[in-house]
Amino acid sequence: MNNVLEVRNLQKVYGTRGNLYPALEGIDLQIQEGEFVGIMGPSGAGKTTLLNLIASIDNPTRGSIIIDGDNLVTMDEAQLARFRRDKLGFLFQDFNLLDTLTVKENVVLPLALARIPIDEIETRVGRVARPLGIQDILAKYPYEISGGQKQRTAAARAIIHNPRLVLADEPTGALDSRASTELLQCLADLNKSYATTIMMVTHDAFAASYCQRILFIKDGVLFSELVRGATRKDFFHKILDVLAVLGGDNRDFI
Ligand code: ADP
Repeated sequence: MNNVLEVRNLQKVYGTRGNLYPALEGIDLQIQEGEFVGIMGPSGAGKTTLLNLIASIDNPTRGSIIIDGDNLVTMDEAQLARFRRDKLGFLFQDFNLLDTLTVKENVVLPLALARIPIDEIETRVGRVARPLGIQDILAKYPYEISGGQKQRTAAARAIIHNPRLVLADEPTGALDSRASTELLQCLADLNKSYATTIMMVTHDAFAASYCQRILFIKDGVLFSELVRGATRKDFFHKILDVLAVLGGDNRDFI
């Protein structure tokens, strides 16, 4: 199996001399092609920092981040911009759709930016719309659709260019439980059918239970790891057990 992501000895220190704050320390992790990995930990543990470093929108203090064989740390801004566009897909809590574009136009945006031919764009829309259940709303505008449909539109946009890695930051954070379940099921199906590699930050044990593996961070270091066994329900309870040991404010995990 190939490693899509390899993080080695990653450190991030915020602040200036005399007022330094280490947010991440000595993080080592790998994500293999086709994995669906969750990142969990109490508030302030360093999850967002880790995601931002892997998304290459922030620079580490030390260490390397290798995606698809390329070390982000050695790239310049132009290379990073191209890298993000071609190799990464993003899914955020608040959808980030453009209100003046239809669902279809939002979904194809990454392809239009990459100057993919029209025929190819149509084929790819067909391929992502069905598994995400948005084929009937392609002509609608974001204000005409539900939160769940918005997030599934955003998920279609995140995967339409076949990125090597999809980074999801609390993707169910703004959804009700039914829409969350639908989105998570879609992500799990995409992961299974298309071997889409997904790394998802979440504080929600239910959302995390759709992953195959969870990495727990506490105080900027990797605390433990859980691998899913036979059933999602069983995994959910194991995740809750680790969260209880991790401590912190319980409200973080509701
Ligand atoms: P999480 O996403 O797990 O809640 P973060 O990655 O946001 O944690 O933050 C980790 C730690 O780093 C926190 O203590 C936070 O206050 C600190 N931190 C985050 N961003 C900055 C920043 N830009 N400057 C200084 N400290 C920061």
